[in-house]
Amino acid sequence: MNQNEILSVIKREIEDFDFKTSVEETGAIIQISDGIVSVYGLNSAMYGELVEFETGVRGIVQNIETNSVGVVLLGSDYGLREGAIVKRTGKRAGVPVGEAMIGRVVDALGTPIDGKGAIATSEYAPIENEAPGVIDRQPVSVPLQTGILAIDAMFPIGRGQRELIIGDRQTGKTSIAIDTIINQKGQDVICIYVAIGQKASTVAKLVSTLTAHGAMDYTVVVSSPASDLAPLQYISPYSGTAMAEYFMKQGKDVLIVYDDLSKHAVAYRAMSLLLKRPPGREAYPGDVFYLHSRLLERSSRLDEAHGGGSITALPIIETLAGDVSAYIPTNVISITDGQIFLESELFFSGIRPAVNVGLSVSRVGGAAQTKAMKKVSGSLRIDLAQFREMEVFTQFSSELDKSTKELLDNGDRLVELLKQPLYHPMSLHAMVILLCAANHKLLLDVPVSEIQNFKRELLDYFQLRHAELLKQIDTQKQLTEEMENEIVEAVKEFKK
Ligand code: ATP
Ligand code: MG
Repeated sequence: MNQNEILSVIKREIEDFDFKTSVEETGAIIQISDGIVSVYGLNSAMYGELVEFETGVRGIVQNIETNSVGVVLLGSDYGLREGAIVKRTGKRAGVPVGEAMIGRVVDALGTPIDGKGAIATSEYAPIENEAPGVIDRQPVSVPLQTGILAIDAMFPIGRGQRELIIGDRQTGKTSIAIDTIINQKGQDVICIYVAIGQKASTVAKLVSTLTAHGAMDYTVVVSSPASDLAPLQYISPYSGTAMAEYFMKQGKDVLIVYDDLSKHAVAYRAMSLLLKRPPGREAYPGDVFYLHSRLLERSSRLDEAHGGGSITALPIIETLAGDVSAYIPTNVISITDGQIFLESELFFSGIRPAVNVGLSVSRVGGAAQTKAMKKVSGSLRIDLAQFREMEVFTQFSSELDKSTKELLDNGDRLVELLKQPLYHPMSLHAMVILLCAANHKLLLDVPVSEIQNFKRELLDYFQLRHAELLKQIDTQKQLTEEMENEIVEAVKEFKK
């Protein structure tokens, strides 16, 4: 380099010199215990801010006290020691969001764990976000078909609704959620399944089921297994919701499943106790209601001015011995727009899905039900309720009058009709035809043990002979007098 060149470089450097100096606030670790770190010196750290430790591990500020802040670790505490430096990042905890997440399995921080390489997203969304305001919303009016006859007929779910799935262990809670995800194929709904505190092997099995049914093409799985630290389990549903909000803001419809919020509350309890927050009922901290209300309030249907997108939430709660009046179940029941109550007794007697008709309810979905479905399912709940009542009543008497006998016979067949195997979602037309046949008492002369076969063969018959009618039901979503007559005639024809 000659002298001139050297001079020009020096000049350029002087011209470009910028007096910006940045002050990074740092603190020092006072104490570490069970994933909770006390830090001294982060005087202006914000609640919920992300901080970084020397080893690269990150944490979230959760307690702000007079002389220290309490930080929950989002990774291993290996290598951290007293006096080690902690840096503020100035950012709130967040996850990457974007189209590229679809089809992937990620952890609570949005990092891929499916071995398919990095995810190319450009956006980053905070995990905690304000729920859409009252003015930005519109009522629920578009159905979200689960493909499960018992639910779509009696407890319809609309896009933007929050419907709780509640029941004891091993009663088919997860199965309902998975069936619903599988049924969204071709419905333009993006699904997010958040697994909280489950066995990693269970999640792996679930992902392979979804893949086998082609459902991973529109699904994101967020997994925070039981082996994860409590703080990670705690943030995982919020992370999933942040991903869902990204799609909702683009005007898309999203279905999110939180499986399950009981384990989520337990993880939060562990974290809160370690942070020395005062325990309340069942040792849960005082804000455990807010924990779930602020999460579920983010599911909504936005009005057209905001793109018209929606998030439908299916939170799952596990009960102990069917006790729905325990702390966490009552909380979540009061937050959601209805619940599907699954019962072990029904499950073991072979009624699957084991939906308890009396205790389940959908508070807003009725407005979203298709006209066709409304017409044929109107009396189903009452018929079943009467049947249950009569069944108990007549258990010991042998002589029954004709109308009671008919009610019982009809009930037996309805119960049989509502049984549905796993991964066999029903289309709207199938539901309408079966319920229409039942309404016209056309099943009464079919033996109860034959109902399942009858069901299958009847639908095949319609597919073969009345394809036009099926298409009509699916597209018009309503049932005219003539269509109903045509169904009745066709069923009679088939029975011959
Ligand atoms: P856990 O409490 O362990 O999470 P869960 O309530 O989520 O259980 P699932 O895992 O969905 O229950 O189902 C339990 C078992 O019941 C599974 O083996 C599943 O195959 C079976 N099962 C669920 N629904 C049905 C159904 N409709 N027909 C037949 N089998 C079913
Ligand atoms: Mg489950």
